[in-house]
Amino acid sequence: MHTAQEHLAGLFPEEIAGRLEAEVPPYRARQIFSWLHRQAAASFQEMTSLPRALIEELEKRFQSPWPLELVTSRLSADGTEKYLFALEDGSTIETVLLPEKRRQTVCLSTQVGCAMNCSFCATGQAGFRRDLTAGEIAAQVLFVQNRLKAQGKTVTNVVYMGMGEPLANYQAVLRSARLLNHPEGLNLGARRLTISTCGLVPQIRALAEEELQVNLAVSLHAADDRRRGEIMPINKVYPLEELLAACDYYTARTNRRISYEYALISGINDSPQAAQKLSDLLQGRLCHVNLIPVNPGSGAARPSSARIAAFAQMLERAGIPVSLRKERGSDIEAACGQLRQRTLEGQG
Ligand code: SF4
Repeated sequence: MHTAQEHLAGLFPEEIAGRLEAEVPPYRARQIFSWLHRQAAASFQEMTSLPRALIEELEKRFQSPWPLELVTSRLSADGTEKYLFALEDGSTIETVLLPEKRRQTVCLSTQVGCAMNCSFCATGQAGFRRDLTAGEIAAQVLFVQNRLKAQGKTVTNVVYMGMGEPLANYQAVLRSARLLNHPEGLNLGARRLTISTCGLVPQIRALAEEELQVNLAVSLHAADDRRRGEIMPINKVYPLEELLAACDYYTARTNRRISYEYALISGINDSPQAAQKLSDLLQGRLCHVNLIPVNPGSGAARPSSARIAAFAQMLERAGIPVSLRKERGSDIEAACGQLRQRTLEGQG
């Protein structure tokens, strides 16, 4: 029985040949890679430039080109589509497609569950099961690409913001980014990839050393240690001073602007004082703030529109670039972990 780690979607062209029993010359391995990653083929039968015997061997060994299978999907009135996938060990993960006029963004998962336990997050509350492999991460994008291809569209952006803490699964996440970035594959520019983190300082510093121009999004959610520690337990390990020093290092090494994510929760972190603290903290930094009013289904209360607007204005006045993330797919549980949770509870 093969393991998910062996799946071809997680291998570079030069590694594919070594995983097959038959002799596969390098040009064949590159063809397989191109069918998988550039064409996003959903079956080995589609790989028509391969000899029949090789297609049969691939089918025998791997059954499907992807180490995941669609369980269910939901389409929102605003076009957001959410997929629930089963992996080979029966675990389930979620992926979301956020379609816009000129952009098709995939929000993918990097772990089954999450160990970070952020207070407002359905995934965190459900606990951690395991890391995803690079193949399982990349295959989420390939699946969506396969669907979009039929409509004459293509995935343009990938955000690592679904289930899991991406930097806690550092090697697989990086490998998946390199797969998606591969010139013989989807060839998604590194600047179209955004890796998010709740603030794992050593990994932010390590990422700064990689020669990969990916975007970094840091979940802040509060600008003082006491409040942030209440919402995000990771702050007790890496408090704000250490986190911001690592972010500054990332900016210095890459010259990339960091996105700071701030989930606005009524009565918790949405006051004018909180906005002031946030603008003081980020003053003079190459950054952008994404305000995300919490999803009503998350168990936390969403601030009023007036309170959200006032918070954004205070940052603007302080010269901090800010945007308000549009709510997408709230009718289909598009916030992280919600579809999986409902399906596990038998309500999906
Ligand atoms: S918000 Fe992100 S890091 Fe925090 S528990 Fe949820 S998935 Fe994990």
